[in-house]
Amino acid sequence: MTPATGAAQSCATGLVCHRCGVDLPLTDVEAFCPECGKCLDIAYDYERAKQSLREWPLDDRPANIWRLAELLPITGEDAKARVGRFSGFTPLIQADRLGAELGLGNLYVKDDSTSRPSLSYKDRVVSTAVARLLELGDEEIGCVSTGNVGTAVASIAAKAGVTPFVFYPNRLEPAKAKACRALGARVCQVAGNYDEANRECRKLAQESGLQFANITLRPFYAEGAKTMAFEIVEQLGWRAPDHIVSATAGGTLSSRLHKGLIELETVGLARTSEAKMHIAQPAGCSPIASAIEAGDEEIHPCSPETVAHSLAIGTPGDGYLVIDAVRSRGGTATSVSDEEIFAGIDLLAATEGILTEPAGGTTVAVLRKLAEAGKIDRDATVVAIITGNGYKTLDDHPEKPWPSMVECDVDAMMSVLDEFRSAAAAEKLPL
Ligand SMILES: *Cc1c(COP(=O)(O)O)cnc(C)c1O
Ligand SMILES: [Zn+2]
Repeated sequence: MTPATGAAQSCATGLVCHRCGVDLPLTDVEAFCPECGKCLDIAYDYERAKQSLREWPLDDRPANIWRLAELLPITGEDAKARVGRFSGFTPLIQADRLGAELGLGNLYVKDDSTSRPSLSYKDRVVSTAVARLLELGDEEIGCVSTGNVGTAVASIAAKAGVTPFVFYPNRLEPAKAKACRALGARVCQVAGNYDEANRECRKLAQESGLQFANITLRPFYAEGAKTMAFEIVEQLGWRAPDHIVSATAGGTLSSRLHKGLIELETVGLARTSEAKMHIAQPAGCSPIASAIEAGDEEIHPCSPETVAHSLAIGTPGDGYLVIDAVRSRGGTATSVSDEEIFAGIDLLAATEGILTEPAGGTTVAVLRKLAEAGKIDRDATVVAIITGNGYKTLDDHPEKPWPSMVECDVDAMMSVLDEFRSAAAAEKLPL
């Protein structure tokens, strides 16, 4: 079977439910299993993917989210040309200064705080969702968002020429909603938390026929997260890290990291089965971590109360998949307080010069706990995923001491500089 155009093609074969084995054709627009209501997953023909990988050398492929096109569910070349060409392949940074602080000799940061176009990991998942929307020939897209899905939808829809509608819950970071509006999206704030807004948006999707990136297009949305796993392993020279630490909310990212790692091994690109998965949650919203710690199979929904608004999902749809990912890989699940989250943000900033949002602070805080508890060896290769950008969340950041305005005069400024120097010397990290 020779592909029609000169590029690798998707090897997706259909929609499946892992719980009940329900099998639907890829052309079906169903997002949830008609039997059990769980989100459907995408199945692939891995033999065909293997062949295609031999046929189309990686060197000739674009360094964007479509690089391993075989393992994504999008077939339309036009859709791939209009979405995601400049997304993905964020830097994998050797975090030597953060590593020295934590006693880790081989630490990397996968820096999705620089993701194009909207500065969070959500560019990956929204790209595959909007590409699917374009394949369906639709011209409007909705989403329900804790913050970053909204900005990703607003940006990606604008570039693709479709109309975005964003539904936010009652607690949101103002800069994210403002950014959506500045990007031209219609933004509606709903008087409920994320889980309540999500529930109503599901009904709204049904009644209005509006496609929602993270509801009706969810199987396609979720697949975009696998690109994170593909890139990390490629950027390490087709070697999986020993440990991956990632913040978890609804569970899409962590569960698809797991799926992506398995697929890389299945198609023969890398050995990945030894990679352990550690998930990070805020103490004010840790339903997945709590279930894992308690050894439960079921997740008990919670009512979120945390500064990490991106992670404030009390009813995580993919939570059961995350439990499986962490258990089968032999990882851990840890929660940290808001105070620890801000300390994590500050530590990453001071050591690596990366300003992340509270979700990234959660990851760093959990990494610190794992390192201090000796759960990660000094020599292990560790990747901490930084999923979002702190320039969007400065409104929530505790203010640092700020000097009062001084005269615009060199002597006055000299005395301030002297103060700065002694304070900085006292705080300097011993690196
Ligand atoms: C959405 C999000 C996550 C993780 O979300 P999942 O729902 O678990 O995929 C992590 N960090 C940031 C910044 C996010 O926006
Ligand atoms: Zn099912």
